[in-house]
Amino acid sequence: MKENIEHHNELRIPREDTCYVRIYPDPVLIKKAIPVWNIDGKVKEVADRMAESMYANKGIGLAAPQIGMLSQIVVADLGEGLRTLINPELVEGQGESVMEEGCLSLPTIEVPVKRMEKVFIRGWDLESKEVSLELIGFPGRVYQHEIDHLNGILIIHYVSRSKRELLIKKMFKDLKRSQGKGSIL
Ligand SMILES: [Zn+2]
Repeated sequence: MKENIEHHNELRIPREDTCYVRIYPDPVLIKKAIPVWNIDGKVKEVADRMAESMYANKGIGLAAPQIGMLSQIVVADLGEGLRTLINPELVEGQGESVMEEGCLSLPTIEVPVKRMEKVFIRGWDLESKEVSLELIGFPGRVYQHEIDHLNGILIIHYVSRSKRELLIKKMFKDLKRSQGKGSIL
C-alpha cells in the first residue's frame, strides 16, 4: 500500500531493476499466491527484495506478487520497523470503515475502500515463529490491503466496472505524460 495523499502527484514508475514493482495490468497481480511451505534462505531473499522495493517506492506495505512472485509473503513498515508476514491469514474482523487507498501497482489511483475496523491476523515470521496480530484502524487496513494482493484483489476491484475503466484510462494517461517529461523515478 502507498503512503497517503502527499505523493498523489508524484509519479513513481519503478525501473526494471531490483526495485521494480509490477504495475496493473500485469497478470501476476490478479493471480492467487501460493503458501510458503518452508521458510528458508530463498524466502528471506524474496522478503529482502520486497522491503527494498517498498522503501525505494515510498510504500508502507508490499505483497510478493508486486515483485512478480506468487508466494504468500507480505512486508509492511508502519513507522515501527519492518515486519514480514508469511502465509498471513485474516482470522476474524469486526466493524467497518471507509478510507481512500493508493497502491504502488496502481500509480495515481486512489479509491475509497471499505474494510474491517478491527482485525485479527495470523502468520509466520522469517524465524518460522507464529505471529498473531490484533490491529485496529489504519494498520489493520494496510494488512487487509496486502492480504488482498495475495488473493489477486486490487483496490480497483472495490469500485464499479465503469469507474474502474475511467480510473485505469486516467492512470495510463498520467503515466504517459510523466514519461514524456522524462520525470520518472
Ligand atoms: Zn497494493
